[in-house]
Amino acid sequence: MSDPKDFTHFGLDPLILSAITEMGYATPTPIQAKAIPIVMKGLDVMGAAQTGTGKTAGFALPIIQKLLPHASASMSPARHPVRALILAPTRELADQTADNVKKYIAKTPLRCALVYGGVDMDPQTAALRSGAEILVATPGRLLDHLQQKNTSLSQVQIVVLDEADRMLDMGFLPDISRILNLLPKQRQSLMFSATFSEEIKKLAANFLQDPQLIEVARRNATADNVTQEVVKLHESEKVAALLELLSTRGPDGGRLTQVLVFVNAKIECRRLARQLQKAGINADAIHGDKTQDERMKALEGFKTDTIEVLVATDVAARGLDIVELPVVINYDVPFAAEDYIHRIGRTGRAGMSGLTIMLMTGSEERAVAAIEKLTKQKFEIRTLQLTRPAHAERSERSDRPARRDAMERRPDRAYSPAPPVDDFFSRPYEPGVSTVGEQPPPPAQPGPVAGKEKPVRVAALLGGVKR
Ligand code: AMP
Repeated sequence: MSDPKDFTHFGLDPLILSAITEMGYATPTPIQAKAIPIVMKGLDVMGAAQTGTGKTAGFALPIIQKLLPHASASMSPARHPVRALILAPTRELADQTADNVKKYIAKTPLRCALVYGGVDMDPQTAALRSGAEILVATPGRLLDHLQQKNTSLSQVQIVVLDEADRMLDMGFLPDISRILNLLPKQRQSLMFSATFSEEIKKLAANFLQDPQLIEVARRNATADNVTQEVVKLHESEKVAALLELLSTRGPDGGRLTQVLVFVNAKIECRRLARQLQKAGINADAIHGDKTQDERMKALEGFKTDTIEVLVATDVAARGLDIVELPVVINYDVPFAAEDYIHRIGRTGRAGMSGLTIMLMTGSEERAVAAIEKLTKQKFEIRTLQLTRPAHAERSERSDRPARRDAMERRPDRAYSPAPPVDDFFSRPYEPGVSTVGEQPPPPAQPGPVAGKEKPVRVAALLGGVKR
């Protein structure tokens, strides 16, 4: 008898079931319970789900089930055309998705290939040329391979746009529309997004047919199982406050390990990681200037606990898959309120409880208000009693001239916001034309200006934290 609380009632092949059992999946997550039957039926899906909810298996398992009748043990590439395409915004997310898919198909003859930018094309070309039914790709690099005729999308039956909001943020819309123009019109389309802007709705309207809406969290809402704290302080107290939190907010009031700390700019990312290292903490930084190898190495160190604190910018951290991440600290309030949702989505994943603490200076109050509006909640703003004087751990950046500081605090983004959706869907594919990375940087966003605010007296101690 199949049990609706486990995976047996979805009609998945025993080869898939045995692979996920080995991975330790016993109970479907809410998005899996909703998405698997719908995708199996061949319907289009608009999924409102963050990374960490189990959405990858939610779309991948039924896709694999649908492709199984085409599985071939033949070595011939012609027997392994691309039948499912999964587009992801970042190398990290693409890597993690492909990693999961490869585990799900491990017992079947299906193949999965992975392509993303910033690394040598040759090994990817070899994988594409030997054939793979499931292709996980970032848009720009996929277009490069298509231009070089390393693969074809003419037999794609199912396409997934994963983290669609982030792909639009990153200016991938032109690339995505070119790719979609190359797909057969008769296909199943799935789109997942953590947030719902007008652009996302337009993309969905253009890309999906009568989509089934699957929601596992409220739109633009933050995970219920994440306790969110906001601490108000002066810019010069930030480093000391961070050190205090790191040494006192671990289990039983001890040291925290595996903490992801978000900052808004690359330069801060490097600087803060250095300051933490000086304070005896195993810290590393990941930001847009780091190579793929460096990012992967830092991530690996973080996952295996050799790195206690990973300081990251939004772009670099996108798609990080660390299942049991207990704490996320927003060292800076994000410029864009939607980034807050993505940032805290790194904790409280797959039903685990999480804690997120955001440090807020006076000049960041408006950005916090924007987050409250977006997430429809009111933060209780707390203050933090520092046991070490702030000046002993002075933030390097507070010692810098304000102008230089403002220049260096530009967001870690080398792209502009995506242009309107409609324009791109009507355009034909132009081989080799990839606009990502060629656009001018975005206009300066409002951010805190160093040296403009008066110090805030820190009085009470953080308390009353739900754990
Ligand atoms: P995702 O949101 O797809 O990135 O998944 C987040 C993490 O949860 C991944 O590490 C998955 O391997 C894991 N996961 C997904 N589904 C389940 C499940 N049903 N049971 C346990 N872990 C899961």
